[in-house]
Amino acid sequence: TASAAAPHVVIVPLLAQGHTIPMIDMARLLAERGVQVTFITTAVNASRITPIIDQVHESHLPINFIELPFPAAETGLPEGCENCDLVPSKELFKNFFDALFLLRHPLEQHLKDLVPRPTCMINDMCNPWAADVAKALNIRRLVFHGPSCIYIFCCYVLQKHNIYEKLTDDAEEVVVPDLPNTFRVSRIHAPGWFNSTDFKQLRDEVLHAEETADGVVMNTFDEIEPMFVEAYKKVVGKDVWTVGPLCLYDKDFSTRIVRGNKLAAVDQDRMFSWLDSMEERSVLYVSFGSLTKMKVGQIFEIGAGLEASGVPFIWVIKDVEKSVEVVEWLEGFEERMGLRSLVIKRWAPQAVILSHRAIGGFISHCGWNSTLEAVSSAVPMITWPHFADQFLNERLVVEYLRIGINIGVKKPVFYLGEDEIPVMRDDVERAVRSLMGDGEEAEERRVRARELKEKAMKAMEEGGSSYENITRLIDYIKQQPPCKDVQGTE
Ligand code: UDP
Repeated sequence: TASAAAPHVVIVPLLAQGHTIPMIDMARLLAERGVQVTFITTAVNASRITPIIDQVHESHLPINFIELPFPAAETGLPEGCENCDLVPSKELFKNFFDALFLLRHPLEQHLKDLVPRPTCMINDMCNPWAADVAKALNIRRLVFHGPSCIYIFCCYVLQKHNIYEKLTDDAEEVVVPDLPNTFRVSRIHAPGWFNSTDFKQLRDEVLHAEETADGVVMNTFDEIEPMFVEAYKKVVGKDVWTVGPLCLYDKDFSTRIVRGNKLAAVDQDRMFSWLDSMEERSVLYVSFGSLTKMKVGQIFEIGAGLEASGVPFIWVIKDVEKSVEVVEWLEGFEERMGLRSLVIKRWAPQAVILSHRAIGGFISHCGWNSTLEAVSSAVPMITWPHFADQFLNERLVVEYLRIGINIGVKKPVFYLGEDEIPVMRDDVERAVRSLMGDGEEAEERRVRARELKEKAMKAMEEGGSSYENITRLIDYIKQQPPCKDVQGTE
């Protein structure tokens, strides 16, 4: 029979900001509810989250952060290249994933001797190598999905039914099977994981690790994409716990500010006094996540569109986008905008900005974390997807939830020509005026966004869908699987 054991979960995140951030929130949530957590990271990644680590220690949460040595040199990566957003070129992504695979052995060595013994592992689906470690330790393993369920579901069933093999054109639309209503997608909008041939082995391993997992944990909530969550539960044939939005773990946003402090490339006092001086819902926030890189010409078009819109804005421009040309241009631009704008260079404390009462709209690449953060703060969106799950997230936001308008991007960035710029200044201006204006549609969008925020908050409160799923997840973690004797009978 099942017996209770001291629950001890090992969390193995993908070393990418959009994957690690929600997994830290999950670690804190589990720890707060009595689960011992070992969280796997590396030195560079730990140094980016020291305020969170300090805070965990101060609040005596039972989370142990383990820094594995990252084998950059062995795989030809530059020293310190320990996160997806630090990989200097597209060509080196393969090396980055090879380096992750080399963490398998040190992780196993470390966990083997850990006291108390881990009882369960939660690994990001992009870390299939961790499955072997769980197997070697003979512990149960759950897969964590950071992206939306609409994406996970579509990729899963399209792959399962070999649908793409029947298509001759990446842009051709197909009906997604196993759904109660007709929903069409094309391969460019639901590419599946690690699409290119270079990644075939990784893709197979990811799928195998997903198939062999004991259950699935997802950073979403039932009320935001009910049709897809229901359908996914039906096809996947194992326990699925929807536990999000994990960004709402910290309801008073105090650790979000801490989170921002370390990483933010902005004087927060200045930023807050600027935001405080703005009218409610009057400011637009413009940011495209941790991995996108805008071309120089595209940056100029965004700037011109924002300028023409007349709306005050915060705009995040990343280090990798700051060519000499851009830096020079920005000088004049910022001078012209004066107090109307705040340009944040590098990293913005996004979740806390979105939760400020002055923010009334968000131009977003529709990364799932960004989407959930916007939803959790009732901020309507202008959607500008780039790749991965972002095109399907756009459809969820625009077609199903109706809390956003699309800027009109048709294809992923990889399909664009060298000098092709998909969004022009007029597109930006038009979308901003329409989102931030006081027309009837804009107002209705705001009302729906407020309603959805309420649903998100409720999901995470006691009695809510995600809260109760977390309780069930913890119960599951606490249960030891029945012991089997040599014949395999209980
Ligand atoms: N983020 C941030 N500041 C930035 C850029 C990103 O805090 O300047 C955070 C953002 O709040 C979100 C995560 O990084 O939690 C990005 O995840 P998302 O899924 O939106 O996009 P990705 O970076 O994975 O494309």
